[in-house]
Order: sequence, then structure tokens, then C-alpha cells
Amino acid sequence: MVYFKIDSPAFYKQAQYVFVTLFAMAGLRWRELKSESTIPAESVIFFYGTNPPNVQPQTRLIFIGDGHFQQNLNFAMTHIKWFEPDKKYLPLAHQEKTFTLFGGQVPAPGNKLFSQTDTDEPIITQKDKKIYCRADLIATAFYILNLETENLVKTRDRYGRYHKKYSNIPEIYDHPVIDQYVTLFRSLLSVLAPDIESKSIWPNGHSFAVALSHDVDRLNTWTFRKAKRAALNGPGPAGWKGKFSRGFGVLKSVLQPERWRGNFSYIVELEKKFGTQSTFFFAVQHRLPRDPQFRFLSDHVKNSIIYLLQNGASVGLHGSLMTAFDKNDLDKERQILQNITNTVILGTRQHYLRFDALKTWPLYESCKFTYDSTAGFASETGYRCGTGFPFYPFNKSSNSAYHFLEIPLVLMDSIFLLEHKLYVKPENAWQIIKKHLEMTRQYNSCLAINWHNNNICPGDVTGNTQIYEKILQWTADHNGWICSLENLAKYWRKKTDEKYE
Ligand SMILES: [Zn+2]
Repeated sequence: MVYFKIDSPAFYKQAQYVFVTLFAMAGLRWRELKSESTIPAESVIFFYGTNPPNVQPQTRLIFIGDGHFQQNLNFAMTHIKWFEPDKKYLPLAHQEKTFTLFGGQVPAPGNKLFSQTDTDEPIITQKDKKIYCRADLIATAFYILNLETENLVKTRDRYGRYHKKYSNIPEIYDHPVIDQYVTLFRSLLSVLAPDIESKSIWPNGHSFAVALSHDVDRLNTWTFRKAKRAALNGPGPAGWKGKFSRGFGVLKSVLQPERWRGNFSYIVELEKKFGTQSTFFFAVQHRLPRDPQFRFLSDHVKNSIIYLLQNGASVGLHGSLMTAFDKNDLDKERQILQNITNTVILGTRQHYLRFDALKTWPLYESCKFTYDSTAGFASETGYRCGTGFPFYPFNKSSNSAYHFLEIPLVLMDSIFLLEHKLYVKPENAWQIIKKHLEMTRQYNSCLAINWHNNNICPGDVTGNTQIYEKILQWTADHNGWICSLENLAKYWRKKTDEKYE
């Protein structure tokens, strides 16, 4: 059990939210201390405030300085600093460079545990049973999780989307900053209180999770452009021989009926081999030219949905472009899908990842969705919310957490396949993906992925299906939990039932 106490009246609700969110990710049982007189002797207290409290010498304290950044976020954004552990003092797993946005003003007495990389200035120190952290990890975590970093930037693309490149600090999205903080919390606890163990976060002793999903934009595997791209950029030799053999592969594939009907049974069988299922986000309406346009209500689609549900897969809504900013449209599309499945549709992901935190998150709340998995980048991999973990975003108007979970999307197949995105060869795509898998494992975190159903087929000449299998195999080989996105959401909701007042 750990305790936390907040002495920061202006930022109290936000700080409370951050502690509860990060402790859930760390698998720590916690209680909030409302008055100092009730400090239990054998516990550890995380204290967030302007000055360290006066506590007994035997009380174990982790003090995090409040940098009062809520008063001037713009200023803070320009003060990003790196710090990394001084291995001499902290022989822990946390050896990755870590971001902090905010440096505090509180002096840090004692031995250096972490220092700023460039200046070697102490950031986290230890003196007897007290640890002092100068960096305002709490405010940083709050702003990153809730996408305040992007709310400060006005640039959007023609679909109203934010991209990594619009940020003046795009590198912040390369690492899961929040997950690093969670690991840091665990590291500090192991220095101060090795007797306090964080609970295993994932079921059956798994050390991390990979959550599977497929956006259903199309039923046909091949388009002319995709076939051309596969012949030119697929794996194997680049010369005419390679192109010819891949072209022949496309032709063979085109002649298979299931390649025109969504590949659903192929995907179900493939995932069965790994003892898992996935979540399929179905588009149901075509309003704008870029919306999906297969026959949403055909018998084949209805039967496919029933087949998926019968095989343990789950079905969510892939909202058309308009639904990102319109509650009625979003509600209507969900109702269409519910009429087909005869169940409540719990999850959603926007087509084209068209999403704006300030406008779209409130829609999920008012439509009472259980989870969303849109918050990722459409053209690059990365941690848009600073984390791979599911979390409840913060509702500024009610000053408390929303009731739906955001499961940030980190990896999507189209990022690697399309000319206007990264467009890399499969072997290079795998190197990028492996880095994310390794980080997920290192931080005992979670990785949500989206592999489009039309891009998964047998004998795939694009190499994309083989990468998908490789992800599943790597996860199985490294003790990861492979699950559907919806099962992850259900698991996390149950786990975080113990909510704060
Ligand atoms: Zn889509």
C-alpha cells in the first residue's frame, strides 16, 4: 500500500487524477491521505506540493515538487530537459533517457539518484528515508496524457487532424513518457521500500500486453494501386524478376473469393493459432468521399459480423469522418451497428483517426461508449498520449475523469504501406515495430495495434500479413498477453473499479 497527499490547492483535482492513473498503471494499491496526522508508520507517502512536509525521520517520503505550471503552460513547454539515471547510485532497470517538461524550484538535498543529462544538475535525490524530485512529474503527466501539448498548437490538416510534425517538440512522442514515469515510480519505491511490491498488472503472469484490432474500411483485398505498390515495394528482389513474381502472387490472390469478402475467417483462424481474438471496427455509413463505401448492410456483412462474434471476436464502430465532431451522427451509426449485432457496442475508433481531444472526447462521454482507440497518429507511429496503457482522460468541464477509457493507438499497418506515409520495406517496418514491442515489454505496458482486415491474407506479397504474424509470435515468445482491444478494455475497467472519490 502506498499513500499520496497533495498540497496544491489550485491543481488538486488534476494531481489526484494523475496519482490514481499512474498507480493503476504501476499495479500499486493506494490510499489518499487527507490529513498528516494519520500517516501510518510503515508506509510510503508520495507528497506533491510546493515544499516538502515536516514528517517523522522514520517516515518514508517521496516528495515531488509542484512547479505551478498550470499558470503558464507556454513557458513550460520551452523548458524540456532530459535526465537519466546515474547508474552509480541507482542500479535499476530504468536506464532509458526520460523526458521531463518541467523543472521545479525546490532544492534537492542528499545523494543524487537522477541528474539532468547535459548539466548533471541533480533532479532526484535521496537523503535517509526521503526522496526529493525537483521535476514536476505530476503536472507533466497530466498535460501529456490529456493532449494539452497539442491543444496549444493550432495547426491541423484538412481533416482537422493533429500530426506529430506540428509539434515544436515532436520527439516527445517517440517514447512512452508516462510509462517511463510509472517505471520511475516503481524504481524509487524499490530504493526506499523494497518491502512494497507492485502487483502484477497483466493476467496469468504476463509481463506486457498487445491488443489487436482491425478497421474494416474495405472488403476487397486488392485495388489496382495496391497491387502496383505490392509489385514495386513488396519483399524480395527489386528487379523485374521480383516484380513479376509479386505481380503473379497478386493475380493468384485476386482469384480467391475470400479476398473479396473481408478475409474474416482467415484472420480468425490466424489469431486462433495464438489462442487469441481481436476487435473489428466496422464502418456503417458513407457520407463524405473519403468514407468507406462497401455495402454495409448486405447479408454478407451481417453474416460476417455474426461469424466474428460467434468466434469470440468483438465488434466496435468505425465512425465515418463526420462522426468525429457530431454527436447525432455518432449515435446514429452506433445504433445501426447495434441493430445488426443485437448487443451494446462498447468501443469506437474514428475513420482516418479523425479526432480532436477537445471536441471528440466529450462526444464519447455523452454517447456513453466504454472505450475509444483513436488517439494515435495517422501517418507515423508514436505515443500521442505519452502512454500505451489504457486510461480515463480528464474532463475539464467536470474537473474529474471521463467514464470511458482511451486506449492509445500506437501502431497501424497503413503507416508503413502508403506512399504519403512512412512507406518503408517490410524489413524496415519490422525494425520500427520491434522497438515499440521492446519498449512495451521494458515498461510492462501495453501496445494497441490496428492491422486493416483487407491487408491480411494468405501468401501476402506485400509482406504485411507476415509482419502481423511476427508481432503475434514475438509477443508469445516474450511472455506478452495477446488480446483483443475490447478484452483489454474490459480487463482494465474491472481492474480500475476501485475508483477515487
Ligand atoms: Zn478507416
